[in-house]
Amino acid sequence: MTPDQYPVTMSEHPAPVPEQPAPEALDFATRQIHAGAVVDSQTKARVTPIYQTAGYVFDDFDDGEDRFAGRSGFRAYSRNENPTNAVAGQRLADLEGGVDGIVVSSGQAAIAVALFALAETGDHILATSSLYEGTRDMFKGSLRRQGLTIEYVPDDATDEEWTARITDRTKAIYTETIPNPLNQVADLERLARIAHAAGIPLVVDSTVATPYLCRPIEWGADIVIHSTSKWLAGHGSVIGGAIVDGGRFDWKASGRFPQLSEGPTSFVDRFGAGAYLAYLRSVVVLEYGPTVAANSTFLLLHGIETLSVRLAQQVANSQEVAEALSIRPEVKAVLYPGLPSDPFHERAKKYLPNGAGAVVTIDLAGGREAARRFIDALRLVSPMTHIGDVRSMAIHLGSTIHAKLTDEEKLAAGITPGLVRLSIGLESARDILADLDRGLLAAGVPTA
Ligand SMILES: *Cc1c(COP(=O)(O)O)cnc(C)c1O
Repeated sequence: MTPDQYPVTMSEHPAPVPEQPAPEALDFATRQIHAGAVVDSQTKARVTPIYQTAGYVFDDFDDGEDRFAGRSGFRAYSRNENPTNAVAGQRLADLEGGVDGIVVSSGQAAIAVALFALAETGDHILATSSLYEGTRDMFKGSLRRQGLTIEYVPDDATDEEWTARITDRTKAIYTETIPNPLNQVADLERLARIAHAAGIPLVVDSTVATPYLCRPIEWGADIVIHSTSKWLAGHGSVIGGAIVDGGRFDWKASGRFPQLSEGPTSFVDRFGAGAYLAYLRSVVVLEYGPTVAANSTFLLLHGIETLSVRLAQQVANSQEVAEALSIRPEVKAVLYPGLPSDPFHERAKKYLPNGAGAVVTIDLAGGREAARRFIDALRLVSPMTHIGDVRSMAIHLGSTIHAKLTDEEKLAAGITPGLVRLSIGLESARDILADLDRGLLAAGVPTA
């Protein structure tokens, strides 16, 4: 986004664009406030209004036909197009360095529709194995029942081992920038290279990184997904999701995506670099209807405006917490790639120069019973599921998010009995640490 690209107007009758001094690209902190910003040409409202409407009036007969065909945008009905939501989609596309974006009703919905746009019954997706458990649940539950096969590839697999698993039905490589909850930072550049050599896109859930910490498209990713419920909204008040199209994948050359590239009116021919997002918006989201309410997006937009300021402090708090906990006898391990001793520290230095995120996962030496005492002793840090709030939160993983797994599955997934995920908020680090200290003293050190 450059200064002469905002503010734009929502109506088909543009208001005059103010003179802007510098043509060069604006900084992240500026774009998180202004990208996609619209000044309503009727009211001149500065803050993006909540456009609480189900549908939009056509100018005339021909306009109706055009909007259904996508010739003048798709704004006909709020199931897949709404002006408040459009600002958020464009802002996230701008922050991620993509060409277009859409917001939907949850992170889960974003993952589902992003993949439905790529894959159908009989198709295959390769994924890194350290992923958010809700995603893994969807992969082995609903997606499998619809005939999609998701195959996990271990982190230490060689390029050849990855490539050997790609079949002519493989439609994507799927990963998370900073996997929730184990923080095993993905090697995005390498995964993009492997995917592109085979003519398939790299899809990245970048929820925990946010575009402030990492922009996967700069490392070769083609589609970026977010749960906006987390740091993007940032205040624990809304559920939402987003999909951003990097715009560089050659769907035609790939030959694997006829839904995008074939026919005289193919999405590639009509929408060029935005073909995937146009298909997602006008077919998949329209058909499944994972619509987010404009009310929620209003709160999301307010969150995004302060993303860099919040996350800089949350990352600093997290680093301080990780360092303090790493020398405690009650803690067997701290999984935080900001620590030089962490196995993913080198990748964090490469991909996350602004900080390694605000999830600090700890393995309590006393196992499940120590975790019970730890959780029950906390007074400031809230015992709950969720991450990315301004409030700090803690959850024992084995008894909650991963409770459905058998003991063997837990071990294979790295979910040890003492594992507790902390989402570090915006309270003072001193107060957070004092509360965690209370928890650790209650957890205790096991006697041999
Ligand atoms: C929370 C989360 C999701 C799911 O998002 P919802 O908004 O809760 O549906 C997906 N991926 C990651 C990495 C998450 O942390």
